[in-house]
Amino acid sequence: MEMGKKEKVETSEELTQSHGEVTVCTCPATGEKLGEFSVNTVSEVEEAIRRAKMAQPLWKEMGLSGRIKKIRKIRDYIMEHLDEIAQTISQDAGKTRVDAMMTEVVPACMAISYYCRKARRFLKPKRLGAGNIISYAIGKRSKIFRSPFGVVGIISPWNYPYTIPFSEVIMALLAGNAVILKAASETQAVGHLLKATIEAAGLPRDVFTYVNLAGSLAGDAFLEGGVDKLFFTGSVAIGKYLMKKASETLTPVSLELGGNDPMIVCEDADLKRAAVGAVWAGIQNAGQSCGGVERIYVDQKVYSDFMVLLKKMVESLRVGPDQDFNVDIGAITTRRQMETVRRHIDDAVARGARIFARSQCPLDKNGQFLPAVVLSEVDHEMLVMKEETFGPVLGVMAFETIEEAIRLANDSHLGLTASIWSKDRKKAVKIARHIQAGAVTINDHLVSHGFAETPWGGFKQSGIGRTHGELGFAEMTEPQCIVNDILPFARKQLFWHPHGKSVYNGSKGISQFLYGRNLGERLNGAYKMLRVMPRMFRSGL
Ligand code: NAP
Repeated sequence: MEMGKKEKVETSEELTQSHGEVTVCTCPATGEKLGEFSVNTVSEVEEAIRRAKMAQPLWKEMGLSGRIKKIRKIRDYIMEHLDEIAQTISQDAGKTRVDAMMTEVVPACMAISYYCRKARRFLKPKRLGAGNIISYAIGKRSKIFRSPFGVVGIISPWNYPYTIPFSEVIMALLAGNAVILKAASETQAVGHLLKATIEAAGLPRDVFTYVNLAGSLAGDAFLEGGVDKLFFTGSVAIGKYLMKKASETLTPVSLELGGNDPMIVCEDADLKRAAVGAVWAGIQNAGQSCGGVERIYVDQKVYSDFMVLLKKMVESLRVGPDQDFNVDIGAITTRRQMETVRRHIDDAVARGARIFARSQCPLDKNGQFLPAVVLSEVDHEMLVMKEETFGPVLGVMAFETIEEAIRLANDSHLGLTASIWSKDRKKAVKIARHIQAGAVTINDHLVSHGFAETPWGGFKQSGIGRTHGELGFAEMTEPQCIVNDILPFARKQLFWHPHGKSVYNGSKGISQFLYGRNLGERLNGAYKMLRVMPRMFRSGL
């Protein structure tokens, strides 16, 4: 399937009937039409969920080795199509090919390798040690097993349209779930390429289904259709809506939502590294990263030096369409996002902020480009500091004490990720422990999203649960505790019926034996407990 041309592209043919509605995708960098993609109806999605429920038990029964064998084929597909995948992501989302390769394709390859290698350990039953001697005495041994949910519904955004849903689909499938995936409407060309990527595994029918329908219908369709778990990545507002909706059926949800990430630059930071790092993590992907730098707090002793470096760096950025690897920053993926970014900058300037630095930007009417901007003289009343801008904008403030920097960094309803920049790594970790964010990086930012092993997810309204790593994998399974009885001759429990004073005293004796405040109390408890223990070996009737 050749992408990026003005032609019709194959769709979810198994599901789509001919009701005619299509999603049209255009390249945000050039305005070129990329393709039309048939839209599924709600009843087709419900049918897909019903079929997935029937297919899932066999997929689970295939066993982990069988599932890994199939899933591994996906990496071969990616390796055969590296350039095509990067090109399609670049065209559909408007990002540069370097961004597409480095932050989407490479992480996808690393993720599939990591999860195929680690799945056995993640899914291995874990024996629980006894909580105290009584668990031994009454003969219990427990293990935690991991069970797939059944059908996992995955809804994903347009900013990393390949790698975000990719990891989630891989984890869910390896754990033994069937998957229904709905990707963002704006990036359906990538969504369909992802469909082709996953289907390269040759999965049994209905174990994985890709659907295309408007988000406004998708959440209700997934939840009313009966997915057993919903994994959502997107905005806080939709996350809240889905959680409310999921409460009707108590369907478990994982929510990976917005961020408004702070970066703290200490007096002893490597300022050049900090300035270049801030620009990469704040402005690559045209700033459309949930875990991108949005707010920078700099020790006032190094503020001026840092700002000089930041200005130089930002003014040297080349923004525009990626023709021959000739640009650093690509387009804004959606028109809605362009408006949000402009509104935030206008609000800041109207409230007294200064545009301290600005990159060049093409005036091409077909391309959705915005210049990279550094704002100084900002405060926390401005939208740019208190809400997620999700664009190529950095707001910078100076601080006097590290306590003030921590207070400013935590002054947000979001808490996805953050970073501390200092040559003293011990001190940086100490500061990090005071930051309310799901991941804090030292002398770097955002990079851990690309690592399969590091859990990703936020504090506060940045979401619930984690994706990536062992914690993320666990979100695709339910823990099941099997408590085994191993005392060979016991015929009943110490505390089973019939009850009487001796049972009461024996029960009280357990507490006294375990937690008595002195030796006498403990011995007395042991005596009472031992007196009733023989009843365990007498007939229950
Ligand atoms: P969005 O509007 O919430 O859309 C995200 C996805 O949800 C899209 O597939 C969208 O479908 C779908 N959707 C929309 N309304 C829905 C509904 N009522 N029920 C179910 N699904 C619905 O988010 P966005 O503005 O496109 O994406 C940017 C946001 O995502 C930012 O806040 C960013 O920080 C966040 N994000 C978070 C992470 C993370 O890991 N924490 C990663 C990436 C992005 P349509 O496209 O059809 O509308």
